[in-house]
Amino acid sequence: MTAAFTLSFPEKEIAALTFDLPGKGANIFSQAVLQELSAHLDVLEKRADLAGLILRSGKPGMFIAGADIREFVANQEAKAEWTVEMCTRGRKLIQRLSQLPYVTVAAIDGACLGGGAELAIWCDRRIMSSNPKAQIGFPEVKLGLFPGWGGTARLPRIVGLSNAVEMIAGGESIDGKAAQAMGLATEVVPTDQLDRAAQDLARAEHRGGDFQEDRRRWSGPIEITDTELYFLGATASAYIQQQTKGHYPAPLAALELMLEGARLDIEAACLREAEAMAQLFGTPINRALINVFFLADRNKKDPGVATDVSPRPVKTVSVCGAGIMGSSISAVTIKREIPVTITDVNATMLQKGVSGLLEEASYNRQTKGPDPQKMLKFAPLLRPTTSDRDIAAADLVIEAIVENAEIKKELFARLEPLMRDEAILASNTSTIPIRRLAADLKRPERFCGIHFFNPVRKMPLVEVIRGPKTSDETVVTAVAFAKAVGKSPIVINDGPGFLVNRILVGYMNESVELLLDGVPLKEIEKAATAFGMPMGPLTLYDVVGLDTAFYAGAVMFDAFPDRLQANPVLVQMVKQGRLGVKAGKGFYKYTQPGKVGAEAKGEIDPALDEIIKPLSHGGSRPFAEQVTHRLFLPMLLEATRVLADNVVRDPRDLDLGLIFGIGFPPFKGGVLYWADTLGAEKILEMLKPLQHLGARFQPTPMLLEMAKNNGKFYPQN
Ligand code: NAD
Repeated sequence: MTAAFTLSFPEKEIAALTFDLPGKGANIFSQAVLQELSAHLDVLEKRADLAGLILRSGKPGMFIAGADIREFVANQEAKAEWTVEMCTRGRKLIQRLSQLPYVTVAAIDGACLGGGAELAIWCDRRIMSSNPKAQIGFPEVKLGLFPGWGGTARLPRIVGLSNAVEMIAGGESIDGKAAQAMGLATEVVPTDQLDRAAQDLARAEHRGGDFQEDRRRWSGPIEITDTELYFLGATASAYIQQQTKGHYPAPLAALELMLEGARLDIEAACLREAEAMAQLFGTPINRALINVFFLADRNKKDPGVATDVSPRPVKTVSVCGAGIMGSSISAVTIKREIPVTITDVNATMLQKGVSGLLEEASYNRQTKGPDPQKMLKFAPLLRPTTSDRDIAAADLVIEAIVENAEIKKELFARLEPLMRDEAILASNTSTIPIRRLAADLKRPERFCGIHFFNPVRKMPLVEVIRGPKTSDETVVTAVAFAKAVGKSPIVINDGPGFLVNRILVGYMNESVELLLDGVPLKEIEKAATAFGMPMGPLTLYDVVGLDTAFYAGAVMFDAFPDRLQANPVLVQMVKQGRLGVKAGKGFYKYTQPGKVGAEAKGEIDPALDEIIKPLSHGGSRPFAEQVTHRLFLPMLLEATRVLADNVVRDPRDLDLGLIFGIGFPPFKGGVLYWADTLGAEKILEMLKPLQHLGARFQPTPMLLEMAKNNGKFYPQN
C-alpha cells in the first residue's frame, strides 16, 4: 500500500507532514493510517534540531474528514474496556503533537472534522485558509457520540469552556474567521499563502516560545469560577434539553463531561472522556445514527440508475408556475448560480414570485434579511417571461403549476414541440401519476417527476419519479440536478402518492381516527413527538393545509380503498373553511398574526369539538401505548407494501426518504431500521390487538414471511 503521509522539509529546520490518503477523495483515520502517523512521530520526536512541524493535507479543499466510521461499526459489540483503550490509544498518539521538542502547526485548507479537528487542536497552533471549504468542527454528536481523542478536554482549554460547549454539543462547523475570533486559529490567509504563512508562524513561535507557555497552561485545570461554571451548566443544559427534547443523549453527556473536566488536569479529563465515551459507543441510538450517516453517504454517491449513463449538463432551467413551489425551486436553483427563466399565467403571481424568490435566494442568516450584494449577483440570473419559446429553450423545464392533470398536459402539449430533443421536461406534481402526465408526450423518455418538498429551502428530499418510459439518462440528469441545487434525491417508480406521501397518509389519517375514538388532541400529538417526530400529525395537517391534504388523500383513497377511506372530519373541516394555518384555524386556532407554516403556534380550539363529537365512534378509548402503535404501525405496514410494489430500488432509499422528507426520527435509524430493532414477530404481536380496526392493521404478506424466517429489512452484518 502506498503511504498516506509524506515527510518533507520545505526549509532546513521546518518539517512538513502531508496527509494524502491514496485513491480517496477524503483523508480519514483508519488504524493503518494511525500506525503510519505513529511511526513518523517516532522519528520526529528525536529531531531536536528542528524549529517546527507543519501538518498539512495533499488534497485541495480537504484537511481531514475524521475517523473511519466503518471501523466503528465493526467494533460496535466491543466491551467498554475496549472503547476506553481505543480512545486512550488514539488520543495519546495525536497528543504527541503537543509534546514534540518544537512547535507544531496545523495548516488547514478544507474540511477539518471530528478526529481531524482533534489532531488539529493537539497541534500548538492552527492556521486556516479563507477557502470556504476550510471549516473546522466536531460533528460527533450527530452520531450520538462526542470527541473521543481528548477533544472535550483540549478544546475548552484553547477557546474557553463556553465556546467549546457550543462547538462540541452543537456539532456545527465554523469557518476560519469564526475560528480566529475565538482563538482557535491564529490567522486566516488565502490558500496559496497557507504553506508560507505556516512556516513563518513556526519560525516566529520557535523564536518567541509562546507555545511553551500555552503547553504549560493547557495541561492544568481551566481557570473558571464556581459561579461561572454553574451558570454555564444551567443555561447550556436548558438549551440542549430544548433542542434535543431528550431524544439525543450525547450533547448533554458532552456538556457534563466538559464541566467536570474543567476542574481536572488534562490527563485526568482525557481519561474521564474515554470512560464516558464507553457509555455511548455501541448504544442503540449511536447505531441508529450511524445507520443514518451511511444512508446519507450512500445517497451522495448514488447516481440514481444501475447503468453507466452520464447526466446531461443542465446549464439553464425553466420553471412554469411562480407559486409557492415554483418560486422556491427557482430560488434554490439561482442560488447555485444556474440561470432560471420563470413564467406564470397570472402576471401578478409572476411579479410577486420573482421578488419573493430573489429575497429567498439572497437571505442572510446573520442579518435575517436579504443581502443586497447577493441580490445584485442573483438578479441577472433570473428572467421572467410570458413566452413559451423562452421557457422551452432550457436544458430542463420544471412544471410547478396547479395540481390539475388536464391543465398540466395542456401546458406540456404547447411546450414539448418547442423544446430541443435532448432537453428534459419534469413535473413537480405531488399526486398525479407520471404515466398519466406522460401519456400524450412525443418524448416520454425525456419526462419524469422531480418532486420537491415544502418548504423547499429547508427540506433536503427530492423524489425523482420515473414513468414507465423515462430513460436512464433523464433519471441521472434529474438526480444530478437535484444534487447540484443541494438536495438529496431518491429515485422511485411511479405509483399513487409516490413514496413519502403514500406512507404519510396512513399515519395522518390514523391521527383523525384517534380523535374520533375519544383520544384528546394533545395526547395524539404528544405520542408523535415523544416518538421523535418534529411535530404532531394534526399540526402537520394544519401546516400542509386541510384542503391540500384532502385532495392528496383522495388519490390515495382511490388507489387503496381497502385500507383508506375519506375521513368525514376532513370533509367537514374543508367545508367550514378550517383549512389550517393559512385560514387561522384548522385542528388548532391561530391567533398570532404574521406567523406562517411550522412557525405558527396553534392553540386548542373548543370549536373543534363541534365537528368531532357528532362523528365520534363511541366505545372505549385506546390507552397511551396503543396510540403510538396506531400512529406508527400503519406507516410501517405501508412501507412493506411499498417494498413489495418495488416503488424504491433499495429499502435504504425508503428510510432516507422518510427521514429527509417528513423528519422520521433519525435516532430511530429509519422506519425499516426501527422495524428491524423490534423484529417482525414482535410487530405482529403489536398488531394483534389492533386488527379488529380493519385492513389497515392487517399484517402484510412480507411481514408474515419475515416473522416466519426471522428475516430483516437490512442485511445483518
Ligand atoms: P400554487 O398555487 O402556489 O402555484 C401555482 C402557480 O401556477 C400559480 O401562481 C398559478 O397562477 C400558476 N399557473 C396555473 N396554471 C398555469 C399555467 N397553465 N401556466 C403557468 N402557470 C400557471 O401551487 P404550489 O403549491 O406551488 O404547487 C405547484 C405544484 O407543486 C402542484 O403540482 C403541487 O401539487 C406541487 N407541490 C406542492 C407542494 C406544496 O406543499 N404546496 C409540495 C410539493 C409539490
